[in-house]
Amino acid sequence: MLPKIGPHLFNGFDDYLDFFQRRGLYPTAKDCSYCNVPMYMSTRNRSDGLVWRCHRCRRTIAMRTGTFLAGQKIAMDDWLNLVYYWATETSVKHAIVHTGLKPKVVIQQYRFLRDICSQKLLQTPTLLGGPGVVVQIDESCFSHSRKNGRGRAPEREMWVFGLVDTTTKPARGYLQFVEDRSAATLLPIIEDKTRPGTIIHSDMWAAYRQVVAIPGIAEHRTVNHSRHFVNPIDGTHTQNVESYWNKAKSKLKAMKGVKREWLSEYLDEFMWREEFGKDLLVGFENIIDHIAEIYPQA
Ligand SMILES: [Zn+2]
Repeated sequence: MLPKIGPHLFNGFDDYLDFFQRRGLYPTAKDCSYCNVPMYMSTRNRSDGLVWRCHRCRRTIAMRTGTFLAGQKIAMDDWLNLVYYWATETSVKHAIVHTGLKPKVVIQQYRFLRDICSQKLLQTPTLLGGPGVVVQIDESCFSHSRKNGRGRAPEREMWVFGLVDTTTKPARGYLQFVEDRSAATLLPIIEDKTRPGTIIHSDMWAAYRQVVAIPGIAEHRTVNHSRHFVNPIDGTHTQNVESYWNKAKSKLKAMKGVKREWLSEYLDEFMWREEFGKDLLVGFENIIDHIAEIYPQA
């Protein structure tokens, strides 16, 4: 059975245009800046050659001018199909097969959508914990393991720092690529991402010794991972944060690892999907809304 949302429900060019305008991706009206009168929409051809035309001076403005698709050649239907494939977690490889588009076009559009994820997360910064709420923290190495020791130079380690709110279900968390695991790097992230009154649970990594000195942190408890998974005295553990990034890692592993310079944007995509795209079709709706928010049209 086909899902209730998606480009397969569209019936030709007018449907796509209607969708783009209704969802705020394209403008619905434009005034001629020379004559100050409303322009009308006309098509140069039946692909996406849409223009606004002034009935007085005959000047035209391309429909895509000032939109997120300005200067791009991809057709509306191809683009919307790609968004749908991205939202439903279709790999680049499969999206190329299904759409017949060039690999570089698919890669470029997928990167654009990841950039939307990053921008949306910047607009709505994550804040975890609160009075009496436990937030677990931990660092993890994301470098991909080598199949054998030969043939490749050893890779620089890629560390990711993570925080997860233990009261949220599904878990709300935050992951950040860090250059190192020092207190100077990690403590400001904890301060930035937690609400006052938060209780921190962690392992005994040396950088965490000053956690309790962070303004707003109420308490810090630890578990000694060289001895236990769970602290036998007070039950402290970090299993929520570990399972949060195991999910992130398995997604990156499915892509055969990620280059260092791309890790941050993939982490953003992961966090966006956890928050806005768990239900894949809701994710499709949300990413369209977020593009419209970030590239507002008159
Ligand atoms: Zn005019």
